[in-house]
Amino acid sequence: MAISTAPSKKSIPVFSGGNWTELKSNRSGDVFNPSTGQVIARVSFATAEETGQVVEAAAAALPVWAATPVVDRARLMFRFRALLEKNFEELAALVTREHGKTLAEARAEVNRGIEVVEFACGIPGLIAGDVLPNIAADVDAEAVRHPVGVCVGITPYNFPFMVPLWMFPIALTCGNTFVLKPSEKVPLSSVRLGELLAEAGLPAGVFNIVHGDRECVDALLDHPKVAAISFVGSTTIAKYIYERGTAAGKRVQSAGGAKNHLVIMPDADLDQTVKQLAASAYGCAGQRCMAGSVAVTVGKAADPVVEGLVEYAGKFRVGPTDGNEEVDMGPVIRAEHRDKVASYLDIAQSDGASIALDGRRDFKSAGFLLGPSVVDRVTPSMRVWKEEIFGPVLSVVRAADLDEALATGDLCEYGNGAVIFTRSGYAARQFKQHFNAGMIGINVGVPAPMAWFPFTGWNRSFFGDLHIQGTESIQFYTRQKVTLTRWPKADDSHLDPVWRQNRT
Ligand code: NAD
Repeated sequence: MAISTAPSKKSIPVFSGGNWTELKSNRSGDVFNPSTGQVIARVSFATAEETGQVVEAAAAALPVWAATPVVDRARLMFRFRALLEKNFEELAALVTREHGKTLAEARAEVNRGIEVVEFACGIPGLIAGDVLPNIAADVDAEAVRHPVGVCVGITPYNFPFMVPLWMFPIALTCGNTFVLKPSEKVPLSSVRLGELLAEAGLPAGVFNIVHGDRECVDALLDHPKVAAISFVGSTTIAKYIYERGTAAGKRVQSAGGAKNHLVIMPDADLDQTVKQLAASAYGCAGQRCMAGSVAVTVGKAADPVVEGLVEYAGKFRVGPTDGNEEVDMGPVIRAEHRDKVASYLDIAQSDGASIALDGRRDFKSAGFLLGPSVVDRVTPSMRVWKEEIFGPVLSVVRAADLDEALATGDLCEYGNGAVIFTRSGYAARQFKQHFNAGMIGINVGVPAPMAWFPFTGWNRSFFGDLHIQGTESIQFYTRQKVTLTRWPKADDSHLDPVWRQNRT
């Protein structure tokens, strides 16, 4: 079997109908290594016409793939999983190179992605339908799941490997074909995923990759042969994708931004809590949709938490991550993003907050580095509380009691994750029941569900009905058909009477 390998990664090709091809478009973007600030590749942006051709390739591959037994589709995922394991270190290094997260964080990301493939391997046991014999006299009812058709995934920069894997292994194993539009900031991991799928033996056209910006995305949203769209990114774009995609008659699941609250009760184990707060807020340089962004201290927890954070995070080794494991925190994705994140420290100060730890330093590196920051005495009217910063800045809000801490969730337009640190079962139960967010952690700093559970963002963190991951995603990527059957007793008078008699 010929293995399909992308020709040149300096200039990043699209993958359409099993072929890697360069785009002719004259619009393009740079791909950086955030550790060095160097441009490592260039990605052309597909025109609407070029995007349409990729969708047509996926549509052409659909009938044969949809008719392939689900067990064979799952077997392909087993082969794909083996290749991901075999290339594990190379994949993690690639994530670090184009994204900038530490190698340890990149390895964790690759593991989380592989778990989704493991879930997809089990789809034959999950996709079976329902039967109710004799639902009416002599009538049997059955409901079975069919693929929806050509599915599209549009993904963000912060998990170049894992977020595409949230989508296509499940869509493909359910019998759909797929077009992936990765973030133009981090397209290299997706190209590698396409190569490994081809190496696993996926037929041409079943999985395709197109690169681009709004023109490409709009062409996907409007294309009549696209049946379903999965999106992950910022809230403004998530809402746009949901509205335009559903207006065009497609099913859409659209995950947006976040502002995750971490409540610290005075009875929490403060040493452990400070470490978990720092890991939550500064892991992946704060560029996670489940990153802790607002620490809500209750009562006398405030001072020790702020002092502990300043001491602990103040010692973080911040530096280039590519080829360097001696680092606690890496760069952010772009110089402009670093400057935007840093500008929130000035905004916080002018709004009346105090900077307990300032991550702005002279790093003497061309990488996009910014150290961890702690902003204390933040109040609801301040922009650092309301807006998603998506960088290593943790705001501290001081609440008097648990009720006041719970109320902070109602002031937040997002609703991804929320965490409580406590030794009290009562406080934990109140929090779980009443905090206004869809993914709850109890003494777990980043309560991101693993592949077997849905990623249940609430409020403006999610637009749609069926979430990404878990069995909800099987529902999203399939449509049901219900058949009612009646077989009347045959008129068998023409049969041999002796045989008829023996038969009964
Ligand atoms: P983004 O919204 O800028 O980009 C996401 C995707 O949308 C990319 O593929 C991009 O090319 C495309 N896009 C950007 N602008 C567009 C436009 N005007 N029209 C059409 N398409 C457009 O997000 P990002 O900066 O890449 O990623 C960070 C964001 O993603 C954060 O807000 C983060 O919270 C969010 N995120 C959410 C989740 C979740 O599960 N809720 C997970 C990861 C990241």
